Amino acid sequence: MKRALFDTVKVLPFASGSVFDRMGYESAVLAVTVAASGKATVKVEHCDTADGTFAAVPDSRLFVDNPTDKDGNAIITNESTAEAVGNLDIDLIGCKQFVKVTVTGGTAGALALGVPLPESMAPGEDLDRFLDRQGLPCVIKPACGEKLGLTAAARYTIARTPGELAAAFDLDVMYPENQAAGIAANRDGEIMCKAAEDLGFDNDICGYARISLAYAAGKRASRKFDPETLEYVINPASGRPLKDENGKVVIDPETGKPKKDPKTMQPYTVLDDIYEIEALPETTEKEIAYKNFRREAIKPYRQMRIPQPDFVLCCNNICNCMTKWYENIARMCNVPLIMIDIPYNNTVEVHDTNVAYVRAQFDHAIKQLEELTGKKFDEEKFNQACKNANRTASAWLRVCDYLQYKPAPYSGFDLFNHMADVVTARGRVQAAEAFEQLEKDLAEAVKVGKSTTPFPEKYRVMFEGIPCWPKLPNLFKPLKEHGVNVTAVVYAPAFGFVYNNMDEMVRAYYKAPNSVCIEQGVSWREGICKDNKVDGVLVHYNRSCKPWSGYMAEMQRRFTEDLGVPCAGFDGDQADPRNFNEAQYETRVQGLVEAMEANAANKEG
Ligand code: SF4
Repeated sequence: MKRALFDTVKVLPFASGSVFDRMGYESAVLAVTVAASGKATVKVEHCDTADGTFAAVPDSRLFVDNPTDKDGNAIITNESTAEAVGNLDIDLIGCKQFVKVTVTGGTAGALALGVPLPESMAPGEDLDRFLDRQGLPCVIKPACGEKLGLTAAARYTIARTPGELAAAFDLDVMYPENQAAGIAANRDGEIMCKAAEDLGFDNDICGYARISLAYAAGKRASRKFDPETLEYVINPASGRPLKDENGKVVIDPETGKPKKDPKTMQPYTVLDDIYEIEALPETTEKEIAYKNFRREAIKPYRQMRIPQPDFVLCCNNICNCMTKWYENIARMCNVPLIMIDIPYNNTVEVHDTNVAYVRAQFDHAIKQLEELTGKKFDEEKFNQACKNANRTASAWLRVCDYLQYKPAPYSGFDLFNHMADVVTARGRVQAAEAFEQLEKDLAEAVKVGKSTTPFPEKYRVMFEGIPCWPKLPNLFKPLKEHGVNVTAVVYAPAFGFVYNNMDEMVRAYYKAPNSVCIEQGVSWREGICKDNKVDGVLVHYNRSCKPWSGYMAEMQRRFTEDLGVPCAGFDGDQADPRNFNEAQYETRVQGLVEAMEANAANKEG
């Protein structure tokens, strides 16, 4: 693809040592005249400003496939017996805004430099429209980490892939899937999903992907404010009920409904766009104040304020939606993509050939990471991260096992709350320590007979699938009413990988919930159901996660046949609340409870 980028560039006059502004352009062609049997050397340096100090570009593919010398300068050799003009392709993607090209050797040096005309993206211009008028088979980076003034460490952001590799390069990692779950749990899933749909992404695509793609396009959930007064516009329907000094809900005598606590009321939520904000003028004080307030109005929780990535690292072991999702992030943010392909495993065992296939990709990814970060793979840090990850995973699995106690000292919903740490921070010693502490707390809770579940445990069920993050209270309410404790979940222990070397790590990555065959999936779940002594199974048919939901009907049939436990399914979505119907859910929970009641009566009778 890199080669294809160079087919459509325009050529401008250029002199050696000149500086050009490459903003909006990603490839250059330099024409160099070289004397007969001579050599020319081309040095490319970059800088954030036109008159600052220029430094070498840390990109080993800067000159695409052209030979370079030990200093990374391109060498153009003329082996003919007459003067000749050679074209040098330069990949500008890794370059800062200002680029300096110096040619030495040969007779004339550079005669012309090919860069697209410096007509960059217009302020506030829609990316698609901009791309259309470029006529280049490529995307343009409208705002990258360097433009936002972020440090290199903050910009190295990778995702959904072996955190252990990231640790070996001291990278700051952001996981788009977890970020999307956080945004959904903060009730902004719907506005972000709709934003992605407005960008042309289908409503049937996974909700996590839609949220993340809207984010990559610069869309943000924001607080509504009055542009004149710069005051937030409060939504009167928001907020928690006001309580009196005795903890009783205060009723409004006029409406007969509970009054809202003004301290908890929030502004309306609106959609904003960081690129539109950055393009706003800053000439007058009023304009500056408005621009700053609009920046500030973006929702203040962490997942809504994460910097754009410098590259993405994708592993598709849980689904293939990931592949297209990350390709699109890379395209929109104009950053490189490192891909690790882990195919669906349709046998219980992971064959050696599968391991070799993925292992080779890990080795290649390490090389790519070295090129991107300019750092060597630190084996010691990698081993330490693996050690931490194993320690975290072992503690996490022991924590999960506490659900086997009857009554359980906590609920599967608690595990959902702790999951983010095991997914995103398992390579850190703090994560291992936190779960070891949690294990101690649970041991104590069992000893004294305490539970976090705020009701007596009458029935125990397995919750199958990802929870509906925006609707956790709605999921919990009918369970509480019927005394149903979730004592088994599939999603949480699935993140407890333990391995001792890179090959075992590969095998572990082959065993994610969606990458295993149905026999393995049934056996895992039935093992958990037996160990955790469940009376029934509640299945989330998650509209977002088709690979997971697709084989659930057959699994449900097997659970009832093999274990004799009733199952009930409900429709929902992990991130898009439009796909959840509370009334249907309540009815299904009620049906499950009746079936568990009848089952218990049959056993007794
Ligand atoms: S595994 Fe399911 S929830 Fe996760 S990204 Fe894929 S489709 Fe979405």
